[in-house]
Amino acid sequence: MNKTDPAIHHSPLGDYQARKSVHPKRIDGPFRRFKWLIMLVTLGIYYGTPWLRWDRGPYAPDQAVLVDVANRRFYMFDIEIWPHEFYFVAGLLIMAGIGLFLVTSAVGRAWCGYSCPQTVWTDLFQHVDRFVDGDRNARMRLEAAPWTWGKVTRRLAKWAIYLVIAFWTGGAWIMYFADAPTMVRDFWAGEAAPVAYITVAVLTAATFILGGFMREQVCIYMCPWPRIQSALMDEHSLQVTYKDWRGEKRGSVKKAAKDPAAYGDCVDCNMCVAVCPTGWDIRKGPDISCITCGLCIDACDRVMKDVDRPRGLIDYITLDDAEAEAKGAPTRPAWRALLRPRTIVYFIVWSGLGLGLLFLLGTRQHTEITAAPDRNPAYTVMRDGSVRNNFTVKLRNMEARPRDMLVSLEGLEGGSMWSDEISADDAARQLEFAVDADATETLRIYVIAPRGTATQDFAFTVEAQDEQRETDSVDARFETPSGGS
Ligand code: SF4
Ligand code: SF4
Repeated sequence: MNKTDPAIHHSPLGDYQARKSVHPKRIDGPFRRFKWLIMLVTLGIYYGTPWLRWDRGPYAPDQAVLVDVANRRFYMFDIEIWPHEFYFVAGLLIMAGIGLFLVTSAVGRAWCGYSCPQTVWTDLFQHVDRFVDGDRNARMRLEAAPWTWGKVTRRLAKWAIYLVIAFWTGGAWIMYFADAPTMVRDFWAGEAAPVAYITVAVLTAATFILGGFMREQVCIYMCPWPRIQSALMDEHSLQVTYKDWRGEKRGSVKKAAKDPAAYGDCVDCNMCVAVCPTGWDIRKGPDISCITCGLCIDACDRVMKDVDRPRGLIDYITLDDAEAEAKGAPTRPAWRALLRPRTIVYFIVWSGLGLGLLFLLGTRQHTEITAAPDRNPAYTVMRDGSVRNNFTVKLRNMEARPRDMLVSLEGLEGGSMWSDEISADDAARQLEFAVDADATETLRIYVIAPRGTATQDFAFTVEAQDEQRETDSVDARFETPSGGS
């Protein structure tokens, strides 16, 4: 890794040292407000989504987003994904991956800084710290203080709040896998499946430990994503940067007033470090510890305003622009970094994939037929010389209402069929079956053809007997002792 690599230099704490607590100071500003917004939206979505209802008629669940494990369905508002349509889920996962590439190449570690669950829950727990113990200085004093009853009480209160949040987080997860109100009732009545209790216990413990105690350690030592991101970023990616050519040499306002030419704009107030949720000093340069949340920008802009100097001593800027600016070029607006070939290509691939999935969703059939022949025996010769083949046919009704479906033979001249429900005396080239709403009907179909029929290909077709008249067909092969084409 060379010196200009935008990613990792070293850990601020040194590898494998004991953790030093980070007590970020309260700050307000555009980036802090943006973080509030993202936190509200992401937590709101996570905790609230299972409680949204969505009317799909009497034959389907009314939970807007549901992974229905028992019936092997995934519901998302008007979209219902069946197991054989898993490519939609795979497509969404690929889109999420490319979306992360796009965001990273454009705005660096924005995912880490704003919307990664580890960041969001750590931020939430840091606000709990502030609520219970006060702001940075009070928390640092309390940490250094001996273990009095007062300190023990405060700690217990804080951990109790952690635990409630963690439990709520684990509890919300299982609501995605069953009807939420029913699950809550069953859970507290002790009637939920054991896996529900185990999942809640594991997720509660994970949230409590990772968000309450390990915090920035997860980002610095455990998470592989910052390492991968460094490969996706280049000198054109936005990252939080301290403009040392403008800030150095550091000195207090008093010192600078005495000798303005000797000092830069940084008044060495340490506010940028005090507000940092990972405890990093951005003036040392980019590092894996910096999740690019922008809070140090808020802090420094406020200081610059107080000392009547221009904002942006710490700012989102690309390495290229930083070098140009250091040589005296004018500041380029940050949004210009977003429009470049790499981000445009990512965007085209990402949106193309999204449009493709939408097209597939909009045009997919809700009626399907499959047929699997019996292999042993492949055919049976009847007493009159006619030949019978047996098939397992599946009719899939992907509508949320029961439908009648007409199954026909296509090809196989002289052939007819019957099923377990229809007697051989009523064998015909077309049979009608009722299929339940949102269900697959499995049928045993017996196809018979006259003596002398050669082995040949034919097809089963199905037509839904409703207004849409959707059709589907599946190829099959009729086996006989004579063989043939
Ligand atoms: S150095 Fe600045 S941008 Fe980086 S994590 Fe700390 S506060 Fe956020
Ligand atoms: S907040 Fe700004 S002025 Fe204060 S130490 Fe950090 S970079 Fe320097």
